Amino acid sequence: MEQPSQAHPDLDRRRFLRWGIAAVAAAVPMPAWATALGSAQRRLSFVNLHTDETLTALYWANGSYQRNAVKDINYLLRDFRTGDVHAIDLRLLDLLDTLQHRVRSQSPFQVISGYRSPATNAKLAALGDGVARRSYHMKGMAIDIALADRTLPALHQAALSLRAGGVGFYPKPGFVHVDVGPVRTW
Ligand SMILES: [Zn+2]
Repeated sequence: MEQPSQAHPDLDRRRFLRWGIAAVAAAVPMPAWATALGSAQRRLSFVNLHTDETLTALYWANGSYQRNAVKDINYLLRDFRTGDVHAIDLRLLDLLDTLQHRVRSQSPFQVISGYRSPATNAKLAALGDGVARRSYHMKGMAIDIALADRTLPALHQAALSLRAGGVGFYPKPGFVHVDVGPVRTW
């Protein structure tokens, strides 16, 4: 089910061009939908629901991604079943930052699933549960999340409004999947 975009397509287009120019000027990955990324600092907070680990990471400051903070995030979002750590796509971090601003949440992202190793993904796919065999979780490009201070439908609507990649709604287990693959919804 496709939700209507909140912004006029032309506005999105203009925004895209603006950020496109900014990306060239700054020589950093700057996604087209990055409307909330103007601030000098970008911070993300997580709680991993499987391991109970928490993290607040200032992952962008002084005009660049912060290596150690990104490393900490990669670790928290590891495959907790195997211990495998994988680089998380920086565009996904920016998507989360934008999403948090969009829903005006003060809560850390509850992480249901971040990186998934091929072994773990195959195991979960075999169990059903809507796990794709060729999942963006295996590329560090996807995350399954919830927010304690926002309803799942509110988080879902905000994710859809970004039109930043894939968005999946899983009300039963209680999370929203977002990824930085092609824009699609399910
Ligand atoms: Zn997912």
